[in-house]
Amino acid sequence: MQYPEHQRRAYLSAMGIDVWLPRDAVDAAPAVADAHDLDWPALRECVATCTQCGLSESRTNTVFGVGDQSADWLIVGEAPGAEEDRRGEPFVGRAGQLLDQMLHAIGQSRETVFIANILKCRPPNNRDPKPDEVASCRSYLERQIELIQPRIILAVGKIAAQNLLGSDATVGRMRGRPHDLGGIPLVVTYHPAYLLRSPSQKHKSWSDLCLAARLAAESGA
Ligand code: URA
Repeated sequence: MQYPEHQRRAYLSAMGIDVWLPRDAVDAAPAVADAHDLDWPALRECVATCTQCGLSESRTNTVFGVGDQSADWLIVGEAPGAEEDRRGEPFVGRAGQLLDQMLHAIGQSRETVFIANILKCRPPNNRDPKPDEVASCRSYLERQIELIQPRIILAVGKIAAQNLLGSDATVGRMRGRPHDLGGIPLVVTYHPAYLLRSPSQKHKSWSDLCLAARLAAESGA
């Protein structure tokens, strides 16, 4: 059986086999990862060994995502922060504790949903992701969405919402109504880090969560 080259390399890498490439093959390699044929173990390995953008040089750990690989709910954030980079898990800092409480309020938990980010590596000093970093990472999240097939996607914060929806609108304009991502309902809400700074906005996030729960129920969750 003939596997595509990137898939062959990911499988070999997952098996602990070093892959040596002639320099001209490295130079000719596509600048952007294509993860669309990978299964979970190969995708995980591809992310763990990724050097597609400069963030690979400053990261401590990649942050693949956590939760149920066939979850009804997919939560998408921006990028790992310092604590996430240290621990290799998304949303484990203060914002993560609030996200856990938000999930609890809708009868979910980090074990029953899947939590991922637009970027798998931490941007230094928590700066916004750069377009080339987002482009390099995009197919990993796309493949996660294909594999999970969630019934609802909750985009938390501006960076997640803008990149998933290809929009430059504010969260205020995108939240409060259903969107569609390739046939999957998507709801935008505020990032928990923003809600920690602006607790008076929490009631809006609660109404976004209720909307997402309704859409998930309508799509069979
Ligand atoms: N903020 C995010 O958007 N993602 C994380 O994983 C942590 C903080």
